[in-house]
Amino acid sequence: MIARPAVQALPAYKPGRNPADLAREIGVDRAIKLASNEVAFPPLPAVVQAVAAAAAETNRYPDNGAVVLTDALARRYGVDPAQVATGCGAVTLCQELAQAYNDPGSSIAFAWRSFEMYPLLARVAGARAIQVPLVPGRPGGPADTHDLDALLAAIDDTTRLVFVCNPNNPTGTAVRRAELERFLDAVPAGTLVVLDEAYREFVSDPDVPDGVELMRGRPNVAVLRTFSKAWGLAGLRVGYLLAEDPAVAEAVRKTHVPFSVSMVAQAAAVAALASEDEVRARCAAVVEERGRLTAALRERGLEVSDSQANFVWLPVGEQAAPLAAALEARAVITRPFAGEGVRVTIGAPEEDDAFLAALDAVLDDVRGVAVPR
Ligand SMILES: *Cc1c(COP(=O)(O)O)cnc(C)c1O
Repeated sequence: MIARPAVQALPAYKPGRNPADLAREIGVDRAIKLASNEVAFPPLPAVVQAVAAAAAETNRYPDNGAVVLTDALARRYGVDPAQVATGCGAVTLCQELAQAYNDPGSSIAFAWRSFEMYPLLARVAGARAIQVPLVPGRPGGPADTHDLDALLAAIDDTTRLVFVCNPNNPTGTAVRRAELERFLDAVPAGTLVVLDEAYREFVSDPDVPDGVELMRGRPNVAVLRTFSKAWGLAGLRVGYLLAEDPAVAEAVRKTHVPFSVSMVAQAAAVAALASEDEVRARCAAVVEERGRLTAALRERGLEVSDSQANFVWLPVGEQAAPLAAALEARAVITRPFAGEGVRVTIGAPEEDDAFLAALDAVLDDVRGVAVPR
């Protein structure tokens, strides 16, 4: 039974490399996964406790309105609960946004390279994807940064959604306050700007704006956040949307896949929010480790963009796939983007050391990776 053409044309899902399988395959004790931007820390004790308590009630459906979590988020961000929508991961909220805003023939604009989900969303919605190339963040550097002027110019009267991924996945670069404010002020009122801030908690540059502040007074701006990255709940699937205009949150709630945020996920997210100080301390450790890894890579003569996220981007072009394959043969799983670069998640210090050791072993074999060494 053949699916509709837009779906037939989608790439088949390719599962990421599993560290246990890889370790078995190459005959080592342990492989390291630095491919999916999770944090290396286990869930906080309060979260594990909340999950265990919720597990005892899972004969019941979850609260489809996620009232307790929604209220906790509203308090945390100083918004009304009507401005909040929760989802089964931020990716589901992206899908729900496209369902809520994109008729066939409309369009979704975003920078490219950016989060892989955006072009897929557009296809499934029957919308046109408007992809605006990244530009060099510094003269002579690789194309790794949003071009907000070009993104603005690309918006037309079919454009219902614009995604700005800040910091950008996979390059880690971030747009600054003044340019983002200028952009938001110029986007037509009929286009919703979605600030995808999946990595917000790792931002250390005070000039990178907080989308929740920028959305105030701007009814066509919404912010996406997730518990998957900094908050350490990737396996539980919970994200949220905050919107200045409650109608945006309401539209997302109307397209919500019923009961898709599980009872366990809701309980864990509430417990995580209550443990924010510990989460912040972990993020600070990741930021410090990001600095160490960036410096170590640059010492090796590698070009590394300044990252505001929990990963670094190696713009090695054609060497991306061979480099990732060579690292994998040494039990380190990274995320290659063929022909463009390799994204490496910041791991625990000993994981990052193992990555650097593997890199040292393969760099000379993977020709052209090093900018003159
Ligand atoms: C990881 C990620 C998300 C969301 O992930 P979920 O696990 O679905 O919450 C959203 N946007 C970007 C850019 C991401 O990298």
